[in-house]
Amino acid sequence: MPMSYDNDNIFAKILRGEVPCEKVYEDADTLAFMDIMPRADGHVLVIPTTPARNMLDATPEQLAACLATVQKIAMAMMKAFGAEGITLQQFNEAAGGQEVYHLHYHVLPRHAGERLRPPGTMADPGVLKDHAEKIRAALAS
Ligand code: 5GP
Repeated sequence: MPMSYDNDNIFAKILRGEVPCEKVYEDADTLAFMDIMPRADGHVLVIPTTPARNMLDATPEQLAACLATVQKIAMAMMKAFGAEGITLQQFNEAAGGQEVYHLHYHVLPRHAGERLRPPGTMADPGVLKDHAEKIRAALAS
């Protein structure tokens, strides 16, 4: 049985402007911002601007809009960080690894031989800002 959407999840609060985020891109349907605990330098989250708990209750339109933004961000990351590849992650329900219950895609720039860092370490806000600026500049160019 599908679980319901919680309007008080942290990404809903970010969308309402109640919690700050380091934004890299937005359009009518999606928002992209820096993950506060990046597992690689430049780790971005892409979310729909409308409620969806995860992939299991999302509409095809929400999924398509997110993936179009994921592709934009991924291409900007290749340029911004000289990335050699991109890892895309998306978790569904606790057993699937999900911790925040608003649909989101993790977009991670990768370099050969560099492992992802373990989860759970907060980044310096100045470092997040610097990485976001690089992505924004690549998107604008
Ligand atoms: P998941 O639900 O896919 O397991 O992980 C949720 C992700 O959201 C984690 O990578 C975590 O670092 C990130 N996250 C949790 N709270 C916040 C927050 O308040 N701001 C931002 N920018 N990211 C967050």
